[in-house]
Amino acid sequence: MLKSLEPKIIQKMDQKKSLYANVVKQFKKAADLMNLDDDLRKIFIKTDNEIVVNFPVKMDDGQIEIFTGYRVQHNNALGPYKGGIRYHPLVDIDEVRALASWMTWKSAITDIPFGGAKGGIQFDPSKYTINEIERITRRFTFAIGNNIGPEYDILAPDMNTNSQIMAWILDTYLSTIPPQERYRCIPVVTGKPVESGGSLGRDKATGQGVVFVIEEWAKENNFDLSSATYIVQGYGNVGSWAARQLKSYGSKLIAVEDNFGTIFNPKGIDPDVLTNYVREKGSIRNYIDAETIDCKTFLSTKADIFIPAALENQINVETAPLLNVKLVAEGANGPTDPEGDIILQNRKIDIIPDILCNSGGVIVSYFEWLQNKRSESWELEEVDCKLRKKINNAYKRVSDTAKEYKTDRRTAAYIVALSRLKIVYRERGIFP
Ligand code: NAD
Repeated sequence: MLKSLEPKIIQKMDQKKSLYANVVKQFKKAADLMNLDDDLRKIFIKTDNEIVVNFPVKMDDGQIEIFTGYRVQHNNALGPYKGGIRYHPLVDIDEVRALASWMTWKSAITDIPFGGAKGGIQFDPSKYTINEIERITRRFTFAIGNNIGPEYDILAPDMNTNSQIMAWILDTYLSTIPPQERYRCIPVVTGKPVESGGSLGRDKATGQGVVFVIEEWAKENNFDLSSATYIVQGYGNVGSWAARQLKSYGSKLIAVEDNFGTIFNPKGIDPDVLTNYVREKGSIRNYIDAETIDCKTFLSTKADIFIPAALENQINVETAPLLNVKLVAEGANGPTDPEGDIILQNRKIDIIPDILCNSGGVIVSYFEWLQNKRSESWELEEVDCKLRKKINNAYKRVSDTAKEYKTDRRTAAYIVALSRLKIVYRERGIFP
């Protein structure tokens, strides 16, 4: 894909900390505050199933390479397991475990009848051709086999995966199903191309959801978005869509970082023009209408809103003191580690936590799943309107809970999720 560019991935590799340890810390803080009983703590702290597959793929030069893929299913008390698939060299069981459990909380907060799962393949897609990526995708899907299914475990895009990859997963999965049953299996994957059963608005859903909750935050804080400035880390699906949607409020994008470069223009960077540039060049690097800055300067940029939309653990003990913003709207999963979180709170920088902020993706995945099951195809306005309603309701639930428990929004979001799950466990009990 981007063979000519040298990514920062290598540089970040040795910084990797246990992401699941972050989840456990966040979970425990909420569980203590709401006095969650020990039995439920034991259940939620463990994942239901962890599938690891090693599989061979033939490269373009005829050589065989072995890849490792993961699918972790955290909890399905509220409905089928649901979660994205990530392609990245840092993917490992610890990361997928964390991402899977965040999906459980996300579905619970937004009142969606799904559980939580996540998957990934440990490789750097920028080092492979499109044909190799297709074979890797298909062979992974085949290896995972019937551990996924439209009413069992539903997939979606995440970092470095997109609607084309979802189409290959769908096609491979359907090829393993008897012809008479294929049609009902289309919702095994969401985030598909519209022509292959995808939903209008799914491509922008996560970024759109980020902006809907920023709008709610602005209303709550009497903050004027029309004169706001914002910076974005990660200019892929989530970052670029959030940037483009925020432009329509009159807010100004002034700095962007991606895996290959960092740019700044105090007069404003047009998110639409930048998106077209990234489509053509593969990165924001060398964008003509901005100056190049280093990562530290990017993080220190004075702005109103910071949207991290790349990797986890980016806001930590070293970087949190640098931030010069009023709000961090977490488009990425886990961008703030627990130490960074405390620093931001002490510095009175507001946070809309990931499990609320980026839930637009799973909300519209649910809409896609519903449309497939009902053989319907909704207009974009209908999708957007339903998304706004669902995510705004979730925002209100989290805000009210934060006030009730006198706690931060992240802990409140966990409390909302755990309260819902707690009722289900109480009603259904434990078999046998
Ligand atoms: P993507 O692959 O479309 O884009 C990722 C972006 O991050 C790219 O611009 C890439 O260059 C940049 N990036 C990668 N490594 C970086 C680094 N070390 N420093 C700076 N930038 C870096 O991925 P995406 O789908 O937009 O996902 C981004 C984040 O949002 C992930 O945390 C993902 O889990 C989360 N998320 C995605 C969705 C979705 O629907 N796609 C839903 C919810 C949450």
